[in-house]
Amino acid sequence: MTTVDAGWVSCDVAIVGGGLVGASLALALASLPLTVVVIEAVPPEDPTQPSFDAKTTALSNGSARILAGLGVWDEIARDATAIRQIHVSDRGHFGSALIDAKEQGLAALGFVAENRRIGAALWRRLQGMPRLQVRSPATVSAVTSHPEYVSLTLQEAKGVSQVRARLVVAADGAQSLVRQASGVEATRVDYQQTAVIAKVLPERRQDAIAYERFTAEGPIAMLPAPEGRVVVVWTLTPEAAARVMALPDAVFLASLQTAFGWRLGRLVSVAERHAYPLALTQASASSAARVAIIGNAAQGLHPIAGQGFNLGLRDAATLADVLADACLEASTETVDAGSEALLQRFAAWRTRDRRLLIGFTDGLVRLFASPFAPIRALRALGLVLFDLSPIAKSALSKLSSGFAGRLPRLARGVALTRPPDQKASVP
Ligand SMILES: Cc1cc2nc3c(=O)[nH]c(=O)nc-3n(C[C@H](O)[C@H](O)[C@H](O)COP(=O)(O)OP(=O)(O)OC[C@H]3O[C@@H](n4cnc5c(N)ncnc54)[C@H](O)[C@@H]3O)c2cc1C
Repeated sequence: MTTVDAGWVSCDVAIVGGGLVGASLALALASLPLTVVVIEAVPPEDPTQPSFDAKTTALSNGSARILAGLGVWDEIARDATAIRQIHVSDRGHFGSALIDAKEQGLAALGFVAENRRIGAALWRRLQGMPRLQVRSPATVSAVTSHPEYVSLTLQEAKGVSQVRARLVVAADGAQSLVRQASGVEATRVDYQQTAVIAKVLPERRQDAIAYERFTAEGPIAMLPAPEGRVVVVWTLTPEAAARVMALPDAVFLASLQTAFGWRLGRLVSVAERHAYPLALTQASASSAARVAIIGNAAQGLHPIAGQGFNLGLRDAATLADVLADACLEASTETVDAGSEALLQRFAAWRTRDRRLLIGFTDGLVRLFASPFAPIRALRALGLVLFDLSPIAKSALSKLSSGFAGRLPRLARGVALTRPPDQKASVP
């Protein structure tokens, strides 16, 4: 095969990965006086696109606010379903808990949206943004660090080319090439669990209620979807998941019914199923020389608490905030988007939120995976106590809403071009 050298371009920021988190960052940066290149291996309309796939995402109120700041929330909200109550129960035990938006003084606890819809909205808005170049399909195959810039090698249909950037953002998912090439190590804990996802039509329509049911085989989440359907996220051992994936529809529905119970009446029909092996990936740092690491490249979480994208979106909003400060402090010509000081500010700001959410999610997985009878009994008691404690519910609701800790401008509903001390109301 002939290799064509298609030349090189230089920019302030190169984002590797235009998935959920990378595309969100690109939109955030579009309001700043920075030249940005987004490099994505698989275009959004491709059925094999790994980020905008068959999954649905539970979006926190904080994420909805960030997406509104990016100008895409109205389009996403058209097909999203609000969650106003979350019912948590433990099969075979008396304990259960209800978290209600009204009790928390909120209109909704969050929203459920299809990844494909979120991706379509983000990419539609990316088109035609000044100072932003989208390269897709284009795969980054090598990363070379220099004192003044980082050089990326791109494989495209037209040949091999180079992008030189003052700052490279690793938004290329849990297996991040950029993270590895930058010398940042990552740990991976295989949970030995697989999530089976399917859209199911139940007999009883219960709009706006999400269910989280813990069973001996693993947790089952039922998230509200349009037209009275629910999205099932059924976590099982890899062997059980393989069995469940192979079942005919009627047998699949009967097995799910036995595991979940009859709270939604009879489970009538099911659409296609998808399986995702689950692991916790954790980068040892949020940055390296001229590299920022965000989204799944920084931390890939178990979906038990539905927080992976919400956390990654806050990575993106925070990086955009730090870059906005740098643009306000310096004239455009002198902004060094990849300076050591800027990256240190970003990494320090992200430490607490990352640690809290990783610990919370991993703790939940371990607590509810435990087969030991005393722990299961304590867990049931914990649910009862939790249900009786408005303080515990309020703390959990705050943590999962994305409004805890120090918030970047976009999460406060403030434009990035405003000075950093500009305050906005936070519910
Ligand atoms: C079953 C399941 C359910 C989930 N539910 C929720 C939920 O309810 N709420 C929630 O907040 N989160 C949820 N998550 C987590 C969420 O899906 C992820 O956190 C999110 O997809 C991370 O997005 P990302 O853009 O960082 O990475 P990815 O989605 O992995 O995207 C990475 C992108 O980079 C591109 N790429 C990779 N390598 C290269 C390269 N070398 N060159 C160019 N491009 C490249 C890929 O093509 C891809 O588009 C769930 C996850 C799973 C598995």
